[in-house]
Amino acid sequence: MAHVFPRHTTGNLPLAVRGQGAYLYDSNGKSYLDGSGGAAVSCLGHSDPDVIAAIRSQLDRLDFAHTGFLTSESAESLADKLVAHAPAGIDRVYLVSGGSEAVEAALKLARQYMLEIGQPERTRFIARRQSYHGNTLGALGTGGNLWRRAPFDPVMVSASHIAPCYEYRDRQEGESQESYGQRVANELEAEILRLGPETVIGFLAEPVVGATAGAVPAVKGYFRRIREICDTYGVLLILDEVMCGMGRTGTFFACEQDEVAPDIVTIAKGLGAGYQPIGAMLCSDVIYRAIETGSGFFQHGHTYLGHPVACAAANAVVTRLTEGGLTDRSAEMGGYLMQALTAEFGDHPHVGDIRGRGMFRALEFVADRETKMPFEPELKLAARLKAAAMENGLICYPMSGTIDGQRGDHVLLAPPFICTRDQ
Ligand code: PLP
Repeated sequence: MAHVFPRHTTGNLPLAVRGQGAYLYDSNGKSYLDGSGGAAVSCLGHSDPDVIAAIRSQLDRLDFAHTGFLTSESAESLADKLVAHAPAGIDRVYLVSGGSEAVEAALKLARQYMLEIGQPERTRFIARRQSYHGNTLGALGTGGNLWRRAPFDPVMVSASHIAPCYEYRDRQEGESQESYGQRVANELEAEILRLGPETVIGFLAEPVVGATAGAVPAVKGYFRRIREICDTYGVLLILDEVMCGMGRTGTFFACEQDEVAPDIVTIAKGLGAGYQPIGAMLCSDVIYRAIETGSGFFQHGHTYLGHPVACAAANAVVTRLTEGGLTDRSAEMGGYLMQALTAEFGDHPHVGDIRGRGMFRALEFVADRETKMPFEPELKLAARLKAAAMENGLICYPMSGTIDGQRGDHVLLAPPFICTRDQ
């Protein structure tokens, strides 16, 4: 243990020894209700027999086959399953080993697509100030979280950032949801025009914002207007569903509820459901054909692409989410969770907003509900909440940070879809 390099070098973490259903257990026998699935990872809970059997059976047959030489049954069938549930036009699946890698692949594919179609002057990405797209330098560069970016700013490719769709803080008095959605979406058009439409590759956004602000969905119509703007200027719409995809919001892809289809979409966390590290970047047939009829080679590849064992696990996960009905359960139990949170905290003087979709929910804390004033950073609310919850046997995902220029404190809840009402 003493040689593991922990992310927080100051903390003494409990030793996890077992997981069962919605619970994790440490070496002292203490149980923790996994209320955030790590960070929206464990959608099936722990020790799912189907996924474990799929991993065992794959390992008995084939451990690894490098995708430069061979494909595998588990990768082929996973891609077929994902496309069967994907938004309209999405036809190809690039299997990677996690979320950041999926985003890197998406950014590189988008740039390469512009080269293949003879538009090399397109070199820029636009994203939103309220976003997290991963920790590798490309993904971090497109993300809007200033605190996470700060140390690496000088060595990153950067994107420009527009306002998020953050109804709780930004919708003005008297403004309808619809006009609010159009107003903030139009910031994309303004930014494209400012940069010069011929220089923009793509717009990257999470349909429901996760790690920066806690389960913030867009208002109705926002993403449809975004899609329109992208189409007008030949800009690719890249949706990052690494956290909010895979049934987390109650539909297999979160963007189904926004009634848009992206050109590229990334998924990860719930795809492996914690059983294997895996992610995927899915793209439209149009983009794939441009590569196929152009250079014939996507200039991006990591050694563990399409790992057969990870793909076998993900196949079993997708089957549980679709045929097994767990995506529908996420919608149903998520509705119950929202009701329960509202009943418990709806009148709480320090809970400003309760939001989210499906089993992806959050509370936003405020010092004053009237003014929506956040708490002082010195209070270290997130760290204290995390410690208090763990002390009481609950894992949840509190965050404190600067959200779109304003401080905010939130707690994200992303329980396994198998959770019972009592839990
Ligand atoms: N994109 C989003 C929306 C995320 O929430 C995350 C992780 O939290 C990532 C990308 C990066 O994924 P990973 O941590 O698997 O690299």
